[in-house]
Amino acid sequence: MTPKVNRRTKIVATVGPGSESADMIARLIQAGVNVFRLNFSHGTADQHTRVAKRIRKQASIAGVYVGILADLQGPKIRISSFRDEAIQLAQGDRFRLDLNLGEGEGDSHGVGLDYRELCTSVSRGDILLLDDGRLRLRVETVTESAVDCTVLIGGKLSSRKGINRLGGGLAAPALTSKDMADIDDLARVEPDFVAVSFVSSAEDIYQTRKLLQKHNLESGIIAKIERAEVVADENVLNGIIRASLGVMVARGDLGVEVGDAQLIGIQKSLIAKARAMDRVVITATQMMESMIDNPMPTRAEVFDVANAVLDGTDAVMLSAETAVGKYPVEVVTAMSEAALGAERQSVTRTSRYRLDRQFADAQETIAMSAIYAANHYGSVRGIACLTESGSTPLLMSRLSSGLPIFGLSSNAQTLQKLSLCRGVVPLFFDASVFAADEVESRAIEFLMDDGYLFKGDSILLTKGTEMGQSGSTNIMKILPVN
Ligand code: PGA
Ligand code: MN
Repeated sequence: MTPKVNRRTKIVATVGPGSESADMIARLIQAGVNVFRLNFSHGTADQHTRVAKRIRKQASIAGVYVGILADLQGPKIRISSFRDEAIQLAQGDRFRLDLNLGEGEGDSHGVGLDYRELCTSVSRGDILLLDDGRLRLRVETVTESAVDCTVLIGGKLSSRKGINRLGGGLAAPALTSKDMADIDDLARVEPDFVAVSFVSSAEDIYQTRKLLQKHNLESGIIAKIERAEVVADENVLNGIIRASLGVMVARGDLGVEVGDAQLIGIQKSLIAKARAMDRVVITATQMMESMIDNPMPTRAEVFDVANAVLDGTDAVMLSAETAVGKYPVEVVTAMSEAALGAERQSVTRTSRYRLDRQFADAQETIAMSAIYAANHYGSVRGIACLTESGSTPLLMSRLSSGLPIFGLSSNAQTLQKLSLCRGVVPLFFDASVFAADEVESRAIEFLMDDGYLFKGDSILLTKGTEMGQSGSTNIMKILPVN
């Protein structure tokens, strides 16, 4: 028998009309989704609550731990609506963003906008980007209540599309009143992760955490990095990363603000930075965009997913592809294969082991040493990590390795959070039901029963002297499997 092959890179899939049925969620879990994203830019709290319950139920039927990520809408600036379904703009046309136009009053001459500060935030010569950058306008004149533009790149424009400025800086505060109301509703959703959109400082993260704690929610907070001014300021960016469980390279809005050419380097440095700071990282948006309508990805898309994996991302994300696309199951399968292809490259298994750093504590020392030992000792088949809070397997997975990190815990919240960590296999194992001198052999037996280990293998095991206490890992052993 060959050992189970595990994909190390995690897949985050957005749930929407195309994927929210119980049957579809079950099929997506089978296809390899690790975390479901509920997008609070759409739908009601009741809908999200129902879908969350459905996900929990299907995950438990499948016997796997999947995470739920609630993604708050944030202060995305949007145009209001048109009289007709959509308008067509051509290069050279004049188009007015007009604060005096209401809902449904837009036409090919102009459209309303509920962002009152627009006229004081833009000036002549600014480039405004509509609909994720598909359309481009140049600002010509700004009056008290309207901004007159010339169309540089035209196309179809429908209601409620987002608007960004090239170079960034078109910004409202991060947590909107809708976000705050949505956080109140999260008490019913009980998400493992909460993503904050258009984060501008660490303060946004602290505020979110406080609001979550009011409802006794300990969800991990993911900061969406999607403002040009945030990536331009090292201190602000570091503060945001430090305050969060992890970050999302939110390429949709960020790419529009900085330009795709800049985004290539930003993706690489953000992923490296997050990992070096012991944070998780999701690479998102338009990874397999063409599969919204087609059953196969383009080669460029396969390479985009693979590239993010080679960059070291924990997870790759699907948005419209699974939310509204025609091929939700196929796209997860295609993404999974692309990730596996990249993981076969040896660069994904080598690490620098933080050779130039001092470790902060026993836990980090054990975690780093375990990966070093596992990568250098041929008969080791994996790392069994007895964990309470999940912090040791998270640390381990900050280094690159080809070996699975088995996160063994009896805490469902911990296991669900580990669903996002690259290379970590979350498994339910309750060490407290065994006598202390029995735990190690029971853990090995458990991993053998599940087909992860075979006679003659070795396993690296880490644990704390005090079992069931978080952050207490201080023991590492190499055990033969027999
Ligand atoms: P969104 O965030 O899909 O909520 O806009 C991701 C991104 O901007 O890439
Ligand atoms: Mn965004």
